[in-house]
Amino acid sequence: MIYIHIPFCKKKCNYCAFNSKIGDEDEKNLYVDALIEEINLRGDDSFTDTIYMGGGTPTTLTLDQLDKIMLAVEENFTVDKRAEITIEANPATVNGNYLRGLQSLGFNRISLGVQTFDDELLKILGRIHDSRAAVMTIELAKRFFNNVSIDLMYGLPNQTLNNLNRDLNFIKALDVRHVSIYGLEIEAGTPFFELYNKNQLNLPEENLCADMYDLITATLPTLGYRRYEISNFAKENFESRHNVGYWTGKSYFGFGAGAHSFDGKLRTSNVCDVATYIKGNVPAIEEVVTRQAAMEEFCFLGLRMVEGISAQIFENKFGVKISDVFGEAINKNCRLGLLKVEDDKISLTERGMALGNEIFADFLL
Ligand code: SF4
Repeated sequence: MIYIHIPFCKKKCNYCAFNSKIGDEDEKNLYVDALIEEINLRGDDSFTDTIYMGGGTPTTLTLDQLDKIMLAVEENFTVDKRAEITIEANPATVNGNYLRGLQSLGFNRISLGVQTFDDELLKILGRIHDSRAAVMTIELAKRFFNNVSIDLMYGLPNQTLNNLNRDLNFIKALDVRHVSIYGLEIEAGTPFFELYNKNQLNLPEENLCADMYDLITATLPTLGYRRYEISNFAKENFESRHNVGYWTGKSYFGFGAGAHSFDGKLRTSNVCDVATYIKGNVPAIEEVVTRQAAMEEFCFLGLRMVEGISAQIFENKFGVKISDVFGEAINKNCRLGLLKVEDDKISLTERGMALGNEIFADFLL
């Protein structure tokens, strides 16, 4: 698995705390050179069946720049012929020619940051596209990609259940393959954080947010989307293989500013600052994943998946029964109706899905 981080956006959205910035052409060229240098340096010809280019907005790069990066990956890794190769895109950054170009570079999955189809809400979020651009881009993307995913947000300032219902109707009509849902979080350092502290952000009450979550999670399955992870829904066979890899503990390479890598034992993180990264990539942090941390991660990452975790796989991996390590957490959450145990499988219930993080905290030793 390979992740490539492109930290550039055309404009920062009002809620976004991701590692992204508005870069000029010189900085982008230097970044691409640094990225290729890192791929050349660390690539080890190993096999990969997923590549994910995320950001930021990778589609702020030119097709030539993306071509150079993908070439470096092919030269330094053994890419499966049927690899899932995803690129994230903002609807305002692509047109038909560009999409065709992405397809010819080998991308076969596109994840579009739509967030909502409501123009007023898009303005509040500070997105650079309107609803019409999102619809046109999705329609266009479907001509070149069999696998189109969109992001949908809820809990937005001024958002109502009616707004959300309209969004779900758009999804029904557009018939994309995959939907990722995100509840808005107010993050430090963002314009939303400032407004929130000044009491100027009209956020929906907690109950309304819960209703929005219920509306989405109840509606998407009726449209043919199977929920396979807490926040992800897919048409049959269109689950994100890359993200499933993270949740099931596969090792991965991460290239670019702030990217993380995991080789099964050691986790490394690249320096986040773009200018420092360009000067020469120095791993910012190296962390040995202890046996205890690996057991915890096995549980709280695996429990994100609807199918849950296997007690047998846990035992094979760690040489100890899951009930001997996490028996208390499992029993407590089963009693509360948040977890269920069926044969070998331990998984979240519907109610548990809504409270994921609270349950995961019980799996920290
Ligand atoms: S486009 Fe995405 S990464 Fe860029 S600022 Fe907006 S939310 Fe953040």
